[in-house]
Amino acid sequence: MNLVLFGPPGAGKGTQAKILKETRGLPQLSTGDMLRAAIAEGTPLGTRCKALLDKGELVPDEVVIDIIAQRYDQPDCAGGAVFDGFPRTIPQAEALDAMLAARGKRIDLVLELKVDDSVLLSRVEARIKAGGVLRSDDTPETLRYRLGVYYKNTAPLIDYYRRQGKLKTVDGMAPVDAVTSQIAAVLDAVPA
Ligand code: AMP
Repeated sequence: MNLVLFGPPGAGKGTQAKILKETRGLPQLSTGDMLRAAIAEGTPLGTRCKALLDKGELVPDEVVIDIIAQRYDQPDCAGGAVFDGFPRTIPQAEALDAMLAARGKRIDLVLELKVDDSVLLSRVEARIKAGGVLRSDDTPETLRYRLGVYYKNTAPLIDYYRRQGKLKTVDGMAPVDAVTSQIAAVLDAVPA
């Protein structure tokens, strides 16, 4: 099964993708994690993208389309994958559809984690207060910027997938376990 986890920054996509890896064996394909790894390793790609990530700006479509295609061709994705933080623009969604079609696959389901902006902001503030290690883009200011980017570039995908009949929405403001249960119920209702 190929699944897209969709939602605004901080909605809990990464948390749920990790749980799906444990419970369903579907690898988590997070473009954000791949880009942060490239930055940490100091690769040319990482160097090129660092300022964009720090600011909360999207990296160019062709960059993420390319890294996703390379990752998807690894053997562990033969049974499908969970796309986390990708696609984030209509051209990315179209490229993903084309990439999967070329491999005789398709997106089966898009799970939208719905979370209000005020809850996303409170979550960042709580993380700052807790005092752990934070990402460079994990500040209220950058989150506000990223939300602007999300509504402008990424939210139009909701209609894109709704038109394809693939969109299911869950309440991302519920406790983590409850979100996991809602997702499990949706997945279990998908015909094999
Ligand atoms: P994330 O870990 O998904 O929150 O992504 C962190 C940052 O990586 C984003 O703010 C963007 O700068 C970049 N990024 C991740 N995925 C994408 C994508 N699909 N398209 C463009 N930029 C992305």
